[in-house]
Amino acid sequence: MTYRTLAKSALALLLLSAATAASADLVVLQYHHISNDSPASTSTTPSLFRAQMDMIEQLGLKVVPLQQGTRAALAGDLSGQQQVAITFDDAYRSVWETALPELTRRHYPFTVFVNTGAIGGNDFMSWDQLRELAGNPAVEIANHSANHQHLPRRPDESMETWQQRIKVSLDDAQTSLEKQLGTHTPMLAYPYGEFGDNLEKAVASRGWFGYGQQSGPIGPTSLATRLPRFPMATAYGQLNALKDKLLSLALPVDARTLPSGVLKRNPPTLSVTLPPGFNPARLTCFASGKGRQTVKREGGQRVSVQADSPFTSRRFRYNCTYPAGQGRFYWLSHQWVDLSR
Ligand SMILES: [Zn+2]
Repeated sequence: MTYRTLAKSALALLLLSAATAASADLVVLQYHHISNDSPASTSTTPSLFRAQMDMIEQLGLKVVPLQQGTRAALAGDLSGQQQVAITFDDAYRSVWETALPELTRRHYPFTVFVNTGAIGGNDFMSWDQLRELAGNPAVEIANHSANHQHLPRRPDESMETWQQRIKVSLDDAQTSLEKQLGTHTPMLAYPYGEFGDNLEKAVASRGWFGYGQQSGPIGPTSLATRLPRFPMATAYGQLNALKDKLLSLALPVDARTLPSGVLKRNPPTLSVTLPPGFNPARLTCFASGKGRQTVKREGGQRVSVQADSPFTSRRFRYNCTYPAGQGRFYWLSHQWVDLSR
């Protein structure tokens, strides 16, 4: 091999490793109940849950603790290894009864976001059970508010009243978790996945990560106060679409340039600037309940999407994907909350 071909192959290797380094992000799965008997919109059947875990294993993905995985994904530091984190909102009893044995058997770590005010109630875990989980090195216990309120500031709510309300919802929950379990995990899952500018600032000022319910993986361009998760209730977690989600990559668009999570105009517009080399014609976007939407070229790499009619629900999303090669997809989702509903 001549020096020239050697240099060439070294360069090729470098480019290849750069491509590999960029080809891994963190996929966070969001569950509530793992049960056949609980409400369908928040439940994953135990058989589907097992099949989903099987697929993670078959794809050779690494299941990591959420906090560690989030830090590494935001830093672009996953060393080319696609990672998955498993989360449960509300701390339902079926997590203890069904998910815990299944995940323990597989040595998969997971996170429980606790609605502290509900603990001990019907269908929820007890503080004793949570204490046992908190002592399990594979489990992280984190904040899902003290009362599961809608946390964005209401239009008719003064800043002072809202701040008082947030203090109770966020800080009382954190204090309960510290007192009861001795844990301090800097992570919040927004109740209903709802966030707005003030709430994101409140989460950032506490040094916490904020997780939503808009789909998509976490990568270096994600924002720490509106981290995406893939909802995995039975209707959304079907196996035929799961592989695309598990292998998805964060669309490399700076999340700070995305609109507020609170609706200002209905239907809203999502404008993004795609990175150089991306072909705007290959971006595909869907709106909640409205199917595929037209992606408008705004010039250069700038594109925008606006649904063809107003939304009538409190929460809705635009989901966009872009082919990433090798059958994989870049993914970006944005959720709005309509505070007038
Ligand atoms: Zn919840």
